[in-house]
Amino acid sequence: MNFDRIMIRYGEMALKGKNKKAFEQKLQSNIARMLRKHPETTIQKTQGRMFVHLNGEDPHEVMQKCQNVFGIHSLSFTVKVEKEEEQMKEAVLLAFNEANDAKSFKISSKRTDKTFPIPSQEMNPILGGHILRNTENVKVDVHNPDVEIKVEVRHEGTYVTAQDYPGGGGLPVGTTGKSLLMLSGGIDSPVSGYLTMKRGVEIDAVHFHSPPYTSERAKQKVIDLAQELAKYGSKINIHVIPFTGIQQKIHREMPEGYSMTIMRRMMMRISEKVASKENILSLTTGESLGQVASQTMESMNTINEVTNYPIVRPLVSMDKLEIIDIARKIGTYDISIRPFEDCCTVFVPKAPKTKPNREKANYYESNADFTQDIEDALEESYVIEVTADHVKTNQQKDDEFSDLL
Ligand code: ATP
Ligand code: MG
Repeated sequence: MNFDRIMIRYGEMALKGKNKKAFEQKLQSNIARMLRKHPETTIQKTQGRMFVHLNGEDPHEVMQKCQNVFGIHSLSFTVKVEKEEEQMKEAVLLAFNEANDAKSFKISSKRTDKTFPIPSQEMNPILGGHILRNTENVKVDVHNPDVEIKVEVRHEGTYVTAQDYPGGGGLPVGTTGKSLLMLSGGIDSPVSGYLTMKRGVEIDAVHFHSPPYTSERAKQKVIDLAQELAKYGSKINIHVIPFTGIQQKIHREMPEGYSMTIMRRMMMRISEKVASKENILSLTTGESLGQVASQTMESMNTINEVTNYPIVRPLVSMDKLEIIDIARKIGTYDISIRPFEDCCTVFVPKAPKTKPNREKANYYESNADFTQDIEDALEESYVIEVTADHVKTNQQKDDEFSDLL
């Protein structure tokens, strides 16, 4: 015997009316997308719950994919058997064995089909006795069990539900709008993207790339990171912005101490333009406070001046160790620490100004005109489309660009 479905519980408590419908539809389509590699699965919606029917697909693989979907509170394996004692016994044993290392259990039976001859109170000891006979050092604990096994005898059959697995929490991606994630190859910005998606936000990404100072492999890192993020949501379009020209101009014409601040201001201006063109209403960054020179309050103030777009900064209150913990959990850490150059580190001055101010940044920028350079960068930009299982890249345009250098 094996589990034939997964029960999905979501926190619909906070949802009302139209919101609830949109939430459920998104959740269902996000689960379906996540299970594309398991074509036999089907999703059934019942009051306040969903069931993924496995139809022979591997239960654990499907469970793992579903656990990544935001908007799910918890999940459990479930099996439907006949209203027949032996099958029910076998099913509760399967459900108990699912809970690794459980030493105590409780069976909660419910009989909605009153034609079934055994009342629920009598069912508990019959089914529990079967577990006790087939395990060692296991006991019943009705107050604080390691695992609670739910048995529901309904008209159409008996449902046995095993332990709860945690879901991704948050809201289904796509229910709260879209943001443009400024994605570097570092540790922070992917985590930031993940946390934003967890709040139901769909993301596109923008990446600044400076060939030949930054290599194809550095760009591949960003594609791989986006692919990890796509596992939690939908398709991510990476807008790759060739940034070499602008960086060289900054390096040539701006004072060294302000080059990093001005570079970041250019990134903001360009990101805002990309977002606006794509009808995206906010930017998301991996900025934190106090880690490096670019992350002081003065710096944030000076960089933020060039855009009036809302900037989502989910990491602003986090310690580096907390960020690393999340990066490990979501599978981006090992990619982020691959040792390839980032456009910011290539041109970074030895002593960047840690307390820049707006007046000076404006003054220095007024000595050079970047309008055309920004237009050119946008003109040369291209999109890489990333989903959890494929990458579609307009490599040709990239090659043409590299040839120009
Ligand atoms: P990360 O770990 O995300 O690279 P960081 O700690 O290195 O961040 P900074 O170098 O100050 O911090 O960068 C701050 C933010 O600016 C990044 O989190 C990211 O959102 C954005 N950013 C930096 N470099 C790039 C890039 N090449 N392309 C797109 N966005 C970038
Ligand atoms: Mg970085």
